[in-house]
Amino acid sequence: MEGKVFGLNDVVEMKKQHPCGTNAWKIIRMGADIRIKCEGCGHSVMIPRNEFTKKMKKVIVKAES
Ligand SMILES: [Zn+2]
Repeated sequence: MEGKVFGLNDVVEMKKQHPCGTNAWKIIRMGADIRIKCEGCGHSVMIPRNEFTKKMKKVIVKAES
């Protein structure tokens, strides 16, 4: 449960994949809400940070810092 470190431009895997069949989302905005964009179809969603933390599985690609 701990150790969920994520940052802007990281690509993450969610517990539930997008209906388009892709399960890779890029974090495009960080704040009280997190905006993520599906790497498959480009669809983006905004979700509250605490919800995002619960639904996210892991970071697949760590962005360069
Ligand atoms: Zn998609």
